[in-house]
Amino acid sequence: MAVMAKPFPCPGKCVYCPSSPQAPKSYTVESPAVLRARSCGFDAGKQVEIRLRTLAEMGHARDKVELIVMGGTFLSYPRDYQYQFIKDCYDALNGSSSSTLREAQILNENTEHRCVGLCIETRPDFCGEDEIKSMLDCGATRVELGVQTLDDEIHHLTRRGHGVAEIVSATRLLRDYGFKVYYHWMPGLPGSTPEHDLWLSRRLFEDERFRPDGLKLYPTLVVLGSELEDWYHDKRYRPYEDEEMIGLLMAIKALVPKYVRIARLMRDIPSKFILAGSRDLALRATIWSKMREAGLRCSCIRCREYGHRLRDGWPIGEPYLSRLDYETWGGREVFLSYEDASETLFGLLRLRTNAERATVRELHVFGPEVPLGARLEPAVQHRGLGGKLLREAERIVSEEFRADRLSVLSGVGAREYYRSLGYRLEGAYMVRELDQAREEPLEGPFGSPSL
Ligand code: SF4
Ligand SMILES: [Zn+2]
Repeated sequence: MAVMAKPFPCPGKCVYCPSSPQAPKSYTVESPAVLRARSCGFDAGKQVEIRLRTLAEMGHARDKVELIVMGGTFLSYPRDYQYQFIKDCYDALNGSSSSTLREAQILNENTEHRCVGLCIETRPDFCGEDEIKSMLDCGATRVELGVQTLDDEIHHLTRRGHGVAEIVSATRLLRDYGFKVYYHWMPGLPGSTPEHDLWLSRRLFEDERFRPDGLKLYPTLVVLGSELEDWYHDKRYRPYEDEEMIGLLMAIKALVPKYVRIARLMRDIPSKFILAGSRDLALRATIWSKMREAGLRCSCIRCREYGHRLRDGWPIGEPYLSRLDYETWGGREVFLSYEDASETLFGLLRLRTNAERATVRELHVFGPEVPLGARLEPAVQHRGLGGKLLREAERIVSEEFRADRLSVLSGVGAREYYRSLGYRLEGAYMVRELDQAREEPLEGPFGSPSL
């Protein structure tokens, strides 16, 4: 559920970013989320109410909600505005007004519409200890970092206002505090070439300082109202040809590791605002079919999710527990998942361990997102996969890393779930001491041994 903050000056001066007084930086006035937000004066609570109504009309479940706060650099807004904005979101989900942000969160733990995840977009240079504290206070669980490229010269040329060093430190800090980290990634920026973009995209995953959990791929567009528009008219910049960009995106998708989710492949910008660059809003589908023709496959999480594959008619097999370990700067990631033989993903858990602590950064079980009226397989979500993943993480932490407690950075609305599994709230985290021996047998979700 996207909720948009009011327009506010952004500390960035990025040449590709559209600017208008009626919309937050980087959004155009007629983008769907902007239109919705403008219709209620950027009131956060009203935006949530509108979305809840729409979801009900479309027949979607509304018991678990993930909020994403959009608009410029939210963490550069005055702190009071940030907290009020987030409190208004919780109040709207709760259907009643609380006197403090904390009270609204506690109410949300047991309400009808629970906030199980909260995502905030920010710049890497607005992601230090102070900003982390704000995000923890707000109940945030995921951060989308505007990374765009890993080339300092391109950052300089495009007047980004920060470089690679800030990306490295923000990524480490976020992971250490247990956040999921997604990157916004822009192939085709001024000063780059498709070959260079592909090289940088490889670096994203080869270099342990980066390795984000997710990507939003935003091919560079010349958008009306951006400085890049002048560059385009002056012939100082030209976007890649469509075929070039499609080939590059296919190559990027083909190299993405299994622990990454490609959440988007295009910006949500109405085509009449796009002066040059790809206007294909269905780019994802175009690339999907071209990859299939070329015998290429994207192994990202989204392409393997149970719900999507079920809808596309894939044969679904028995899930078994799978594990992938990888190093990231300052710690180690353990990616646990339940997958079948063709890698269809039923659920996943991200565990980070470092010298100080072990933190679950994500626990997600995928439901069958089939359209209403379609044949429903028994819901995966109710087979206890989440609990099994968590128990395995506890075992790893205690037996392999010799740690005696596990923390979870969970959405406010998921706290009750963790309580039912023996966790208690400590600050922004759900925590469990691991001294008690576990009695539960770890077996497969369908009764078959899986370990
Ligand atoms: S930081 Fe983001 S919102 Fe701000 S100017 Fe740059 S692209 Fe636009
Ligand atoms: Zn994919």
